[in-house]
Amino acid sequence: MKIGVLALQGAVREHIRHIELAGHTGIAIKRVEALSEIDGLVLPGGESTTMRRLMDLYGFTDALRKSELPMYGTCAGLILLAKDIVGYDEGHLQKMDILVERNSFGRQVDSFEAYLDVKGIEAQVNAVFIRAPHIVSVSSDVEVLSTVEDKIVAVRQGKYLGISFHPELTDDYKIMQYFIDEVVSK
Ligand code: GLN
Repeated sequence: MKIGVLALQGAVREHIRHIELAGHTGIAIKRVEALSEIDGLVLPGGESTTMRRLMDLYGFTDALRKSELPMYGTCAGLILLAKDIVGYDEGHLQKMDILVERNSFGRQVDSFEAYLDVKGIEAQVNAVFIRAPHIVSVSSDVEVLSTVEDKIVAVRQGKYLGISFHPELTDDYKIMQYFIDEVVSK
């Protein structure tokens, strides 16, 4: 499979490494035309308002709203996929029927690491949270895959996968493998 990583800002190289560890080809996507060469797209973590500005500038907002590609968003990428964001009039790409809240794991402890049970994945997943969003609510066709402190941190809706944390900052590529095997390939 050829899996693209939106390469405007954020943790691009780390995701490409996970795609390669999973045995597939990772491609940094900098132009809209390159979307036609890939089977699935990763939206990396970073800063969602900055990414939105760059997506507008390079034509990705429109192209991705119309795109039928399977997508996997981590952290800021999850925020991009949400239909609704607490405090905003509307979401960015509006792919998933979820409401997300930004920076929701406390001010003092901005980042932490945890081992999580994720539905559909056998062993626990090593997760790094950095100023992470959480999912406040989901519609009935969204599947909740994982929670932390009663907060939803991983969801799937058909060909879209959204998680609050950053597996790509660890060696644990099980979620990437899940995305490629269970979402993109089916
Ligand atoms: N806090 C960032 C945002 O709201 C997301 C943080 C991250 O991707 N690590 O966009």
